[in-house]
Amino acid sequence: MSSLPKQPSVAVSLSGMGSSSLNKQPKPAAAGKRDLRKVPFVELFNGRLQGVVSSGSDLERVYVSFFEAGSFDYYCSTNNNRPCGGLRGSPCKHLQALLHEAVAQYGVEQVARFLQLPGDLSQVKSEKEIWPRLRGSLTKDPAGEVFSRFLNYLRYLELEGSDRPVVEMGWFG
Ligand SMILES: [Zn+2]
Repeated sequence: MSSLPKQPSVAVSLSGMGSSSLNKQPKPAAAGKRDLRKVPFVELFNGRLQGVVSSGSDLERVYVSFFEAGSFDYYCSTNNNRPCGGLRGSPCKHLQALLHEAVAQYGVEQVARFLQLPGDLSQVKSEKEIWPRLRGSLTKDPAGEVFSRFLNYLRYLELEGSDRPVVEMGWFG
């Protein structure tokens, strides 16, 4: 019963793809270690790099931040929709932390491509090359949707990772 090869043989025509660029493929993702305490949630979703960033000073407060792909418009506000005080004509430190963690999670290449950075992306090797290109303008947008996606994500983690009772189930008790 060992007539099937263990590895499917891959016969893809690479002609016209320029083999030299193939050899220089960057390593996939795993660019760094995620800091979940600082940025508990980051995702590339619906044309936005978005996520939730902890407040440095107040444990009870989080910021919801995003960059829009293509326009690089950005916003940062607290989970109850107060605008971030760090937004003074340029992205705040929460947005910087968000980008940092996105690169750690997805890798530079994927983040740069997702954000639709202009120019030669092969020159973009780290977040330091992404950050100066993110020059959109401030665009107010309520944090509610991102924040509820974060809460759903937490709930999912809880369901997956522990056998603690699910709070919502109490309503049916
Ligand atoms: Zn902020």
